[in-house]
Amino acid sequence: MKLRIDFLGGAREVGRSAVLVSFGNKRILLDYGSTPSARPRFPKRISPDAIDAVILSHCHIDHSGMIPYLFMGGRPRLIATGITLEFTYLLLRDFYKLNGKYLPWDLSDLERTMKLAQPYSYDLTFYINGIYVKMLNAGHVPGSASILLEENGIKVWYTGDVNMIETHLIEPMDVPESADIIICEATYGNRDHPPRHTEEMRLVKAVKEVVDEGGTVLIPAFSVGRAQEIVCILREYGYTGKIWMDGMAQQATFILLAFPEFTKDYARVRWYMKSAKYVVSNRQRKKIVKKPGVIIAPAGMLEGGWAWYYLMHIYSKEKNGIFFVSYQAENTKGRYILENRKLPPLLGNKEIKARIEYFELSSHSGRQQLLDMIKKINSIQKIFVVHADNDVAVEFAEKLREMGFDSFAPEFGEHFILKK
Ligand SMILES: [Zn+2]
Repeated sequence: MKLRIDFLGGAREVGRSAVLVSFGNKRILLDYGSTPSARPRFPKRISPDAIDAVILSHCHIDHSGMIPYLFMGGRPRLIATGITLEFTYLLLRDFYKLNGKYLPWDLSDLERTMKLAQPYSYDLTFYINGIYVKMLNAGHVPGSASILLEENGIKVWYTGDVNMIETHLIEPMDVPESADIIICEATYGNRDHPPRHTEEMRLVKAVKEVVDEGGTVLIPAFSVGRAQEIVCILREYGYTGKIWMDGMAQQATFILLAFPEFTKDYARVRWYMKSAKYVVSNRQRKKIVKKPGVIIAPAGMLEGGWAWYYLMHIYSKEKNGIFFVSYQAENTKGRYILENRKLPPLLGNKEIKARIEYFELSSHSGRQQLLDMIKKINSIQKIFVVHADNDVAVEFAEKLREMGFDSFAPEFGEHFILKK
């Protein structure tokens, strides 16, 4: 039996993840994402008739953005955890709203996709055309999974996006005992994160300082996972003031609460979520920007959403705070503000007087954690490094080779035949 792996996207870049695994003529597509940018780029096209199923590791656009394209003319099986499907539906509708004119699929394709999708739980083993499949908790966002495939005694493990660290929302990832081929993400393959606990404490201390002085803190946060995690962190470390949630973060919270099995301590998470207030009207928005408290609103990189509205109302006062809690990609408004402490040129480059801070609360494993994960796995024959910027992917593959692994960072569109 021939094993072939095609890297259709997400190779030497973060964005448009897509890997095709073919055991002979049985084919499974793992993720089919887009770049999450304003002008999206896509993975190599594939006919839905050519695959037996597509398995989606998690909801993020860089993994899910092109899934509806497969349902335009075809009816492949789509498998993901139940909560991933709900989050994906939420994020893809928003993605379409912002970038619809650049996308090759439309909302009717998305509706068809969701109708045909099949939810599966973690750790359940099932077969697709004779291929053994298991999804494991990936610890990245609620519902995120790594995917283990096995056929004819060969195990292929696709990590998706992984986090070895326990968060206030979810358990750390599960690592399989053995795998012959690993397709490994390496977003942070070149560096480690500061201790999470320290960053969390620093965040809560800074929030208390601003609010105690009568200021408003804006926390631009990605709506799925991060927004809810921030509420948990603030309450866990004793912040008792007001917390407001706006925009898609609210819908994402409702979805999270509808799937108790995907949070670590559901009763506690639900309690904390109930302590946050939801913004429902413009009148309310106008009021809360003038009051001491925390406002959590997407978009996480200030690329739109209600976060932008709040920013424009609070940036000019020293007593307020703008606290970033996730990575700010290049060419985003968030990155510009963080580096220049000014509004972007389009808005007049005005100085931001509010306090600006950055807290590193990553949902990806750092370099050492990725290496520790790999060390736990037996019988590795080859490791492909994906989901990392070019230099990072090359460096991490090199590090693995130094450790004695047969490792490689494939390029976009490359394929490998591993067994004839
Ligand atoms: Zn992700």
